[in-house]
Amino acid sequence: MHLYIHIPFCKQACHYCDFHFSTNTANKRAVVEAIAREIVLRQAYLPDGDMQTIYFGGGTPSMLDEAELNFLLETIHRQFRVAPNAEITLEANPDDLNAATLQMFSQAGINRLSIGIQSFHEPHLRFMNRAHSALEAEQCVRLAQHAGIDNISIDLIYAIPSENHAILQSDLSKAFTLGVPHISAYCLTIEPQTAFGSWLKKKKIQPIEEEYAAQQFEILVGSLRENGYEQYEISNFARNGHYSNHNSSYWKQHPYLGVGPSAHSYNGASREYNISNNAKYLQAIQNSIIPAMIETLSPADQTNEYLLTGLRTKWGVQLQKLEVLSAGRFALQAGDELGRMTRKGWIREDAGILLLTQAGKLFADRIASDLFID
Ligand code: SF4
Repeated sequence: MHLYIHIPFCKQACHYCDFHFSTNTANKRAVVEAIAREIVLRQAYLPDGDMQTIYFGGGTPSMLDEAELNFLLETIHRQFRVAPNAEITLEANPDDLNAATLQMFSQAGINRLSIGIQSFHEPHLRFMNRAHSALEAEQCVRLAQHAGIDNISIDLIYAIPSENHAILQSDLSKAFTLGVPHISAYCLTIEPQTAFGSWLKKKKIQPIEEEYAAQQFEILVGSLRENGYEQYEISNFARNGHYSNHNSSYWKQHPYLGVGPSAHSYNGASREYNISNNAKYLQAIQNSIIPAMIETLSPADQTNEYLLTGLRTKWGVQLQKLEVLSAGRFALQAGDELGRMTRKGWIREDAGILLLTQAGKLFADRIASDLFID
């Protein structure tokens, strides 16, 4: 069983971000109390079993104070059986990490940090409106390691407009020097409802060129491979098997419960999407109503979701499972397209499992959507 907790607050809006968050923290305590109440209301959502992973995401969960974090964790432990070796991750921003907060997180039971570094290059941090400096980005990882939290993931963003690839290479070198066991690397995308989206409309910035993004991706993958990181998902790299168990559970389609504004849940048959509005979320939970939209998944939805997430991973997708999910329609509908992809060298079959080739990884989402059934 897996639990996601969305903490919908940030200090400031990064120019690229379209996640749900608010910079007004006046009702932070009330939202935390509502999330705890939702955990109680949703206790029966998941089938019986130990909670294997707990993930505090956001927003910026490192903005939780000691009382708020402990209150949420105590509620979780009261409502669920948490496995003794459960992976408990907290997303943190460098500017929130110091010796005192790191000790507090560790004492609360956080055993994995996912740090939103994005870049070690000061002008890139300013361009994206990150709240931390390049120096803080570097120092916080060392501080965390010093505090005994070794299971660290850092987020990096690539394809940030730049004259050449030197800054990306320098970002990667810094990450390697720090010796973190996990790196998530995401391509900069310009979403309409963001500052970058509005600048693009006003032509204050240029769109990210596909070719430049592809070159950066190749540099990134090659460099990570040379330094001992395994690409176990298109955007996720681990050394010595330090995979994110929580995110892997999404990709393997295990059931999970998501609580908090904008959180999603999945039980194998349907997905639920909590409302992305803190005030409305608060009001509903105070009336014991879960403010979620429920989407029942058809056989085609289940097949297509499995393709979209599974093909991105090193575990690939099982042909037999595709047939079961699609009620026997996958080969009939997608067989020709699959043949074309195989001949192009983008996909290969190994003992009944479909896997992307290195060339195919450049077009993972397009390949999956071309194989979608209806
Ligand atoms: S990227 Fe993270 S810190 Fe920045 S606005 Fe989005 S959720 Fe907040």
